[in-house]
Amino acid sequence: MSNTKTDILSLFPEELATLLENEPSYRIKQLFGWLHKGATFDEMTNLPKKMRENLAEKTYIALPEILKKYTSKIDGTVKYLYRLHDGQCIESVVMQYKHGNTICISSQAGCKMGCKFCASTQNGFARNLTPSEMLGQVLVAQNDTGLRISNIVLMGIGEPLDNYDNVMKFLRLVSLDEGLNIGLRHISLSTCGVVDKIYKLADENLPVTLSVSLHHSTDEDRSALMPINKKWNIDSLLTACKVFFDKTGRRISFEYAVISGVNDNEKQANALASLLNGKLPNIPFHVNLIPVNTVEGTGFKSGIKNVMLFQSALEKRGVNATIRRKLGSDINASCGQLRRTEMNL
Ligand code: SAH
Repeated sequence: MSNTKTDILSLFPEELATLLENEPSYRIKQLFGWLHKGATFDEMTNLPKKMRENLAEKTYIALPEILKKYTSKIDGTVKYLYRLHDGQCIESVVMQYKHGNTICISSQAGCKMGCKFCASTQNGFARNLTPSEMLGQVLVAQNDTGLRISNIVLMGIGEPLDNYDNVMKFLRLVSLDEGLNIGLRHISLSTCGVVDKIYKLADENLPVTLSVSLHHSTDEDRSALMPINKKWNIDSLLTACKVFFDKTGRRISFEYAVISGVNDNEKQANALASLLNGKLPNIPFHVNLIPVNTVEGTGFKSGIKNVMLFQSALEKRGVNATIRRKLGSDINASCGQLRRTEMNL
């Protein structure tokens, strides 16, 4: 795709109006509606041919191409390997829950954060995704599966708060009435703990759910797993979570990937409960226990018995904890691994 063309799916309606200053407002509305259905210019049949030709000349629609698709025979989970216009590959997963269909999307191609257990970061960072490339993952998956997607989690490849401006624009675009109209309350943003950006996000006053990847309750151990902890330690992270709650009133969710012999004994569960109860009194929070997905080369694994013991130890101390149901286990639905294989990383 030529760099001189405008990335039209990243534009707000008012930006479209500026770009197409001679078009009446109802045309802008029609165009925005089509773009947010995942249509090509050819499919926008109620727009004048001349207008469509003009658009195709000056702009492009950044929809990803489905390179591979895997459907779980167990639970219907669908995993996509997408190719972007410059050949970068990313992944999305569509999961069907009772409360609605949820898509997990990527926010970057690769990742800089270096978490030791994660496949997405092992081969470094390529680039940020544009708002349109995040939106495109939802549109293409929705059209391809025929499922109406009602929930989004930013838990795929990348660190969303390291691509802050594009992620904010994506959140605003995807929640517009004239577009996909997915409410911000139905969107979760997951971060490894980019503290300065958590404060910035709190100030946006968007009612998204903040998910924080914690994975350990002491600085020494967390730093060994997650290099970001050397920059912002646990105390500064939890202080930011408290401010986020105070400003938004939204419950905080903590992710804890349970890893055998690393962070899964009862003492560590007690330490986690004391940490959260001590640091976040009177703040509603929830711990999501994720049996770690084994990534080639890491040696990390998880035992379900310990995951359950960990959960009951937390609950005994009044911490609300659930074990994430493993969806798509037959299609390797955890993130980052298809990208690595496809791009020979
Ligand atoms: N960068 C963001 C979002 C992407 S990762 C973040 O760190 O939160 C989404 C979640 O999956 C995070 O909680 C991450 O720590 C977790 N994760 C990464 N690799 C995993 C693995 N191999 N097994 C289980 N969870 C993993």
